[in-house]
Amino acid sequence: MEQSFVAWAKMRARRLPQVKLGIGDDAAIIATNASDIVVTTDSIMDGVHFRLQEAGPRRVGRKAVSVNLSDLAAMGAQPLAIFLSLCLPRNDAQTLAAEIYEGVCEQSEKFQVALAGGDTNCWDGPLVVHVTAVGKVVDDVIWTRSGAKIGDAVIVTGALGGSLLGKHLDFVPRFDLVEKIRTRVEIHGAMDISDGLSIDLLRMADASGCGAVLDLTQVPITPAAWKMAAGASDQALAHALGDGEDFELILAVPAKEIDKLRGLIGMQNVHVVGEFISRTGLWSRHGSQYRQLPATGYVHQ
Ligand SMILES: [Mg+2]
Repeated sequence: MEQSFVAWAKMRARRLPQVKLGIGDDAAIIATNASDIVVTTDSIMDGVHFRLQEAGPRRVGRKAVSVNLSDLAAMGAQPLAIFLSLCLPRNDAQTLAAEIYEGVCEQSEKFQVALAGGDTNCWDGPLVVHVTAVGKVVDDVIWTRSGAKIGDAVIVTGALGGSLLGKHLDFVPRFDLVEKIRTRVEIHGAMDISDGLSIDLLRMADASGCGAVLDLTQVPITPAAWKMAAGASDQALAHALGDGEDFELILAVPAKEIDKLRGLIGMQNVHVVGEFISRTGLWSRHGSQYRQLPATGYVHQ
């Protein structure tokens, strides 16, 4: 439902001049007289985005913060503050809230963001954690998913796949990279990989009015994906293309900037996996031939 709902909501929402970039990207941009404000929100639910019994409340708190901060990182923004709202299952609500809060504080200290407000409620349903994150635009640099240009390299910032084995709870939003490149490298567009490389890359290409082609041999695969695939390379690749929740960044970068990018953040964080092209849709390259690539990944209900 999410994609069509988002499209409808975008149309239905009233356009006001203070909203520079509204519904549909990783975060929204609110214009002010000083630097623009970047805002995003995301909820995670027991049984959908984590299993409380397995993950434990502290990691859930960390994840709720990280998924939101990752969206700010994808915009090239600097995080300022977060707001936390909890829907707690009625039994044991207080202990649970305290533990989640520990994880939230841990993560907000790590990224120097203020926990600036929130709300708690109890109900008969499962645990739901909502976070809203606020950041700011630094030096007028903002990366949107609609900024990719034909000919830009498709770059991912780390290995992908198998996040279910742990990374989906313990990933680190890539501000380490953002801080180093924000003002030094010409980045045309960016997006974080929440639902899967193939589906998110197609969304980015669509938003940019172009297509994308992947060199499948260049897609970096995590040890976790290899483990889930029991060593079968086609399966490991399928995990890397479709698993999601890696929260690495997809960057659209002109070819002339790639060496500089590698120099600033290291080879291990710069994987050139393809190119944005004029032919719309998602493709894989086999020599001079293009084959249509199915966009696999997590589809929101
Ligand atoms: Mg995102």
